[in-house]
Amino acid sequence: MAAVGSTGVGAVEPLVLVTHDGRTAAHARCTPDRAADVVAAAADDPDGIADGADAVVEHEPGRPRLPALDLSGLDAGDRRVLGACGWRRPTEPADHEAAGGFAEHEATAVRDAAADLRGRGWGDWCRDRPLGGTWDAARAADGDPCVVVNGHGNPADALLLASAPFEVLEGAQAAARAVGGDRVVVYASSDDARAVEAVREAAERYPDPAASVDVVAGPPEYRAAEPTMALEAIEGNHRLEARLRPPGPEKEGLHGCPTLVHTPRTLAYLAVALREGGPADTRAVTVTGDVDAPATVELPESETLAAAVDAATVDGEFKAACVGGRFGGVTRSLDVAHAPEDLAEAGLGTEGVVQVLAEDRCIVEFVGKRAQFASETNCGRCVPCREGTTQLAERLRDVYDRNYDAAGIEELVRVMERSSICAFGEDAGRPARTAMAAFESEFEAHARGRCPAGRCMETTEGIAQ
Ligand code: SF4
Repeated sequence: MAAVGSTGVGAVEPLVLVTHDGRTAAHARCTPDRAADVVAAAADDPDGIADGADAVVEHEPGRPRLPALDLSGLDAGDRRVLGACGWRRPTEPADHEAAGGFAEHEATAVRDAAADLRGRGWGDWCRDRPLGGTWDAARAADGDPCVVVNGHGNPADALLLASAPFEVLEGAQAAARAVGGDRVVVYASSDDARAVEAVREAAERYPDPAASVDVVAGPPEYRAAEPTMALEAIEGNHRLEARLRPPGPEKEGLHGCPTLVHTPRTLAYLAVALREGGPADTRAVTVTGDVDAPATVELPESETLAAAVDAATVDGEFKAACVGGRFGGVTRSLDVAHAPEDLAEAGLGTEGVVQVLAEDRCIVEFVGKRAQFASETNCGRCVPCREGTTQLAERLRDVYDRNYDAAGIEELVRVMERSSICAFGEDAGRPARTAMAAFESEFEAHARGRCPAGRCMETTEGIAQ
C-alpha cells in the first residue's frame, strides 16, 4: 500500500486505487472504514479487486501513469503531464525512475525540445511563446544563469508541485543544464503548504542534481505570481513591484543574474517531452467556480472548453465562464478550443483556469468585483494600471447610477492593455470588456435600474463590496 498525491479531481477523492496484474479498480470518495475494507479485501483476493469498485480499467502492468478511469474528471483521456498525480508517490525517487525519469539529456536535445515549447501561465516569462529565444538570450548574457520555478497561485502548478514534484524538478534541472546554470529556485505561495512541503522533500531526495535547489515560500498576494515580482519576493523585498523591462529576467534576473522564469506546468511539459517525445499537445485546465468540486484535467489543445467543464458538475444552470484566470475573459460559449490562438481569438485567457458562473450570478457585479480587486491589489508602479483600474471600477459602478459608457470603458481597457508594464495591468480589463460584449443586455438593464439575475439591490447601488 502506498500513499500518492491528489489526482486534482476533488469530486472523487479520497480515491483508493487497487492495482493487480494490469488491472486497476478505483474506489471513489472513500471513508477511512471503506478504505480499510477495500485494502483488506484486496489482500485476501487480489483477483476480486473489482468487487464494489466505482470504475475498473485494464492496462499494461507497470504502467507509469494514471490510466483513464470511467469517473468524472478522470475519463478525459490519457494524462501525460498530470500522469504522475494520484499514481506515483510524489517524493519517492524510485517511482519516478521506474517511470523513465532522471535521464540526463544532452543540452542540445533539451534546447531543441524547448525551442517549440510554449510557456504556460501568466507566471511564466514565456507565456504562450516558445522558450527558445529567451534561453538563447540567457546563454548569451553575462553571469551565471539560474532557473526560477514559479509555482505561485495556479491550481495546476500547485498540484504538480504537490503530486508530481520530480516531474517539475527534472524539467528545471534539464533547463539549468541547457543554459549552463547551476542553481534552481522553486517559488510557491505560502498558502500552498502541501506543495511547498512536497517539493522541498523531493528536492532533498533528488539523486545527483546538476544544479542546487532552494525552495522559497512567497506572499500569497495574486500579483506575487508576476515573474519579476516573483524575483523581488525571492530576493526578500517586502514591497512587491514589477520590474521595468527591458531588460527581461533572461538578461538581468535573480540578483542580477540571467534567469529563466517558468511555471511548473512548463517544466513538467519539458520533462515529458524529453522522455516521450513531444511537445505534448495538451493543456492542464482547472475547472472551478460554481461546481461541486474543482477539477484539474488534461485535454488535447483541440478539445473545447465544454469538454473541460463536463469534467466537473455545475452547481446549478450554466450561465457563463470566466476563462483564463482572475483576469480571464467572460464568455457564454464553451465551443472554443484550448489552443492559445483559439482562446486569444475569442478574447479569452490562457491561464488554464475555467471559472464556471451559474445562472444566479450577476455578470455586472462579477466584473465589477474583478475591477475593484485589480484597483486594490495592483503594485502601483505604472499609471495605466494604477489609475486605469481605479477608473474602471468607478465606471462600472457608474452603470448602477444609470450611466453606462461602453465606448469609454472599451477605450480605457485598450489603453491599459497597451501601456501597462506587466501582465497584471494588460489583463485587468479583460473581464469587463468581454462581459460587455457577451452580456450587453445585462449592462443595459442595470443602467435602467434592473438586475436580470435579481442579485443587485433595487436601486442597484454599490457593486464593490
Ligand atoms: S501593470 Fe499594474 S501590477 Fe504591473 S507594474 Fe503596472 S501597476 Fe504594477
